[in-house]
Amino acid sequence: MRHFVTCMLAALALGHSAFGKPIELGASIQLTGPLANTARYYRDGYQFAVDKINAAGGVKLGNAREKIVLRMLDNQSDTNLSVRQYVQLVTQDKVNFLLGPYASDFVLARDPRRAPPRLKPQPRVADLPLPLTFSELRYYFQCPYDFKLRFLYGFDAPVDRALGFGKSLHDALCQIHAESIRGNVPTIADVPTLVEDHLHLPFANEEVRQNSIRGAEKALRQYIQRHGEQLTRLEHAEKAIELKLADGIVVTGRIDLIRRTDTDEIAIVDLKSAEDTQPQEMTRLQLQVYAAGYQKAVGKDADLIEIHNLEMGHVHREEVEQSVVQETLNRVVDAGKQIRDLNLPKLEKWCETCRRCDMAGICRTG
Ligand code: SF4
Repeated sequence: MRHFVTCMLAALALGHSAFGKPIELGASIQLTGPLANTARYYRDGYQFAVDKINAAGGVKLGNAREKIVLRMLDNQSDTNLSVRQYVQLVTQDKVNFLLGPYASDFVLARDPRRAPPRLKPQPRVADLPLPLTFSELRYYFQCPYDFKLRFLYGFDAPVDRALGFGKSLHDALCQIHAESIRGNVPTIADVPTLVEDHLHLPFANEEVRQNSIRGAEKALRQYIQRHGEQLTRLEHAEKAIELKLADGIVVTGRIDLIRRTDTDEIAIVDLKSAEDTQPQEMTRLQLQVYAAGYQKAVGKDADLIEIHNLEMGHVHREEVEQSVVQETLNRVVDAGKQIRDLNLPKLEKWCETCRRCDMAGICRTG
């Protein structure tokens, strides 16, 4: 009704005194369709007003009175049809005035000046950060489908009775390094206390516990004997790194140890127990990423990467080559993109990786 009154006042204000024929009002209303239940009040309101005005002699324009004719079209609750009908009312039927429809989206649709602005197209999720740790990435590099089963579907490896041994050994070594940086290099005599303080094996039976104590003490004694002299040249222990790469890929991690050699070169060190079943090739990739993370965090290039096998006492050492580091970072960015696109297929055929895979039972049998 408010639309109606507005239109009529506008007509009077324009001072049309010489229509000489009925004044035609046009409207497109939801006479059918899902909005018809409410829109019928508009239909009834418009019709009621027209009937009342005509019954009183019509609209007074100057010295004359003109009757009103209402041309009402059914837009079937369809905004597109409503727009076409309003165009038709103006261009073909040539009504004198338009009456508004019911519902905001119909009002906005018929008036291009009030149409909501179109959203600017945005890239899908390309700029959202994708944080990854190397512990996650290594599963992707071994088999993308293994990554999917673990981190997207939540499957995990069966619990080992010795679970926690590797973490306990790492914690004891972390204390050795922290004490060394403070100037108190631990000795072999400290080993039993270190093991007692850090060994935590929640699933072990007594036999496994006793074997683990012996194994941990042997590994720590061996480490202090072989590397005790180097413990006076430590720079950082458990150094956190965060590497922001292309396309929002972010790699986070902790470097076990950063130390100077006797010729003052910087070595990035990873300490591996037998529980860390990761192939050495994977650890080399990890340390190249960490070398880039160290450069970013400290502003200096690392010279060497070292992988220490704690139980066997082996040390693998190699020089850091910037071209190899860059190649590895490119692989990480590509991995991040595939993970983001959920392009995580199985290995093409059964192989040695499948034979050692915890997920083989739910993935394939040979
Ligand atoms: S069994 Fe093979 S293909 Fe399947 S998840 Fe493991 S490594 Fe991948």
